[in-house]
Amino acid sequence: MAHCVVPEADAILDREFPVLDKGFIRLVDYLGGDERVVQAARVSYGAGTKSYREDAGLIDYLLRHQHTSPFEQVTLTFHVKLPIFVARQWVRHRTARLNEISGRYSVMKDDFYVPAPEDVALQSDDNKQGRSADALEPAAAEKIRAALTGGQRQSYGDYTALIDQGIARELARINLPLSLYTEWYWQIDLHNLFHFLALRLDEHAQKEIRLYAEVLLDITKKVAPWCCESFERHTLGGVSFSEDEFIELKNRLNGSAESSVLKGKALERFEEKIKSGKQK
Ligand SMILES: Cc1cc2nc3c(=O)[nH]c(=O)nc-3n(C[C@H](O)[C@H](O)[C@H](O)COP(=O)(O)OP(=O)(O)OC[C@H]3O[C@@H](n4cnc5c(N)ncnc54)[C@H](O)[C@@H]3O)c2cc1C
Repeated sequence: MAHCVVPEADAILDREFPVLDKGFIRLVDYLGGDERVVQAARVSYGAGTKSYREDAGLIDYLLRHQHTSPFEQVTLTFHVKLPIFVARQWVRHRTARLNEISGRYSVMKDDFYVPAPEDVALQSDDNKQGRSADALEPAAAEKIRAALTGGQRQSYGDYTALIDQGIARELARINLPLSLYTEWYWQIDLHNLFHFLALRLDEHAQKEIRLYAEVLLDITKKVAPWCCESFERHTLGGVSFSEDEFIELKNRLNGSAESSVLKGKALERFEEKIKSGKQK
């Protein structure tokens, strides 16, 4: 068995999936899919092809037991257009290969991200890293959007004025804001893509990068649907407990209503985790 062809993935190659107001993700290429994970895993025991059900079961077993190396045999290459502030977060994931448009070589396009009115919110009261869940009133949100757009116009105007004066592109660009869009090719294997997705689909991640992560997962489902199903079940849908939380959980299962281990904030986080089924 050699080259893996996944017709569902072939059908979306090169198609732009929009993200935010002007961004997109495009699947440029893929290497392998569910079948490759199975082939790679079976090399361990030299076993031949099994039924579809057994293959899906094997993938589920591998993912559940963090037998991760077969997932590294699948590679995906994406073309992404994203605001620089999202790129700053994205690039922290070091287990990928990327090539970005050069602002030294090319004149940057007049493309800036402006949040939709419903995404304009005040600083959150209880989350130092995030925004309030409530959007501003529409008129107030429009004012903020106008202020952001005004700053972008000013800065792009200054940029083009410097370019027109013959100033080097590598210098002319240095005052451009984080809302400017950039583009890159990003290649990553499936194991590390799942790690990226687990972190960036989480509610603690900034909404803008979360939206990119959602599209990445949708595209990846075309390439490796069984792997994604197991990832959703065991990683995204799973909840982990600290030792204290686990003792608390066992006590409650044994009928103890009063908290014996957790106090204060730790108890609140535990209750919230149990209620929402999400990490807190
Ligand atoms: C919600 C959220 C908030 C964040 N806030 C901040 C912040 O305020 N400030 C900030 O600086 N960052 C922040 N980050 C970035 C975060 O600290 C990680 O850098 C980022 O999520 C990448 O994770 P990673 O290192 O596991 O991924 P990858 O770089 O893809 O690495 C995957 C795994 O490979 C191993 N690895 C890779 N490279 C090395 C290496 N050189 N040495 C040792 N092991 C390695 C590690 O085990 C790592 O977990 C935030 C991330 C999230 C999701």
